[in-house]
Amino acid sequence: MAVPKRRTSKSKKNMRRTHKKHDAPQFTVCPECGEAKMPHRVCPSCGMYKGKQVIEEED
Ligand SMILES: [Zn+2]
Repeated sequence: MAVPKRRTSKSKKNMRRTHKKHDAPQFTVCPECGEAKMPHRVCPSCGMYKGKQVIEEED
């Protein structure tokens, strides 16, 4: 198995990783209740997804 001749320096490693960064989590607004929610997820506030009641409301 091929083995790297030299270990990548901290500097080169960090330079490579400048492009690799987390971006802020995305939010959309629920069309049913107007709450901020994660896209492609059931709304945690009203339990609706694509106009259907997926989770029954508890209150
Ligand atoms: Zn909602």
